[in-house]
Amino acid sequence: MRIYLSRPHMSGNEERRVAEAFASNFIAPLGPQLDAFEASVRDYLGADVHCVGLSSGSAALHLALRIAGVGPGDEVWISSMTFAGGIFPVNYLGASPRFFDLSPESWTVDTALLAKELAKAATENRLPKAIVPTDLYGQSADLDTLESLAAQYGVRLIVDSAESLGATYKNGRKAGTGGDAAILSFNGNKIITTSGGGMLVTRHKAWADEARFLATQARDPAPHYEHSTFGYNYRLSNICAAIGLGQMEVLDARVARRREIFARYKAALARPGIAFMPEPEGLHSTRWLTALTIDPSETGITREDIRLMLLEHQIESRPLWKPMHMQPLYAGAPYHGNGFDERLFANGLCLPSGSDMTDEQQDEVIERVSALLDKGR
Ligand SMILES: *Cc1c(COP(=O)(O)O)cnc(C)c1O
Repeated sequence: MRIYLSRPHMSGNEERRVAEAFASNFIAPLGPQLDAFEASVRDYLGADVHCVGLSSGSAALHLALRIAGVGPGDEVWISSMTFAGGIFPVNYLGASPRFFDLSPESWTVDTALLAKELAKAATENRLPKAIVPTDLYGQSADLDTLESLAAQYGVRLIVDSAESLGATYKNGRKAGTGGDAAILSFNGNKIITTSGGGMLVTRHKAWADEARFLATQARDPAPHYEHSTFGYNYRLSNICAAIGLGQMEVLDARVARRREIFARYKAALARPGIAFMPEPEGLHSTRWLTALTIDPSETGITREDIRLMLLEHQIESRPLWKPMHMQPLYAGAPYHGNGFDERLFANGLCLPSGSDMTDEQQDEVIERVSALLDKGR
């Protein structure tokens, strides 16, 4: 592969940060680099929140759902179009998902649909324990509406912001500050990376305290090991946090570059039958991956024609997330929608979007896709 979908992109300062951790011998799951990394993300988010560094975004979601009280028999209402790590923790806890479609205007969860179903569930006394909207491809979900629905029905709101660190919602409010808690991911393919890692961001101090407790094997205060509940080994390594410190220095630059890549694709590939992911007025997405749809009836080609052609030239692209209600694992799970997610999956493609991609590399992608589109029509 010569051109990747999204690769780790170092600032050059990470090695120095890691060397500092080595020099102090904090080669451990806790240490000053982790404290500094948590503080750095909190300062960046600029809100009254608590940050807990964890081994992955999935671990963060697992902890958030457990702290929200999700357990066997409970429902979690969740965006269908998401990544496995953004849903599997529901299974870890023995709860069941109920899936919701995206809104065509934002490609984030359809809040009108959610409102309608919440009203119905309230009258039937079967409200979910938690709602988990996804900030798809770096675009913040509609926090104002979701937060007011969560408050109205007394349901916990946990926002999957794994792809949206660096994005803003309305009036400059940063993605990752929503709900009772938000989760971030620092996996290798995300906006910034710690090689692997995640974070729980919450406005409740008690949630942050409990997350730290559960993430370090639930050790009660005692000289020996005392446990009144079970926990996990979920803390972020201090070495990984050191990488994160170097990455935080370039977060805004990485987002700016991803947005530039999106804008270049959009300008170059605009034609009938090609539609790019929308960005609602006032919102600022990270454009983590450039996502678009190819309508075969208008372009004469399918998204698979493009994907396979690119693959022949060692260029990686990928269909949009396959909606969870279409996955064999979740066959029969309740789903609310009108087929929008299914159409996105049928026709949607993510183009190479890494912030380290050069203009020349992107030009090659654009030329090859344009040539196929022109031939196809
Ligand atoms: C990456 C991602 C996650 C999981 O994060 P990990 O750090 O890989 O566990 C969860 N949800 C979404 C939407 C993601 O893109």
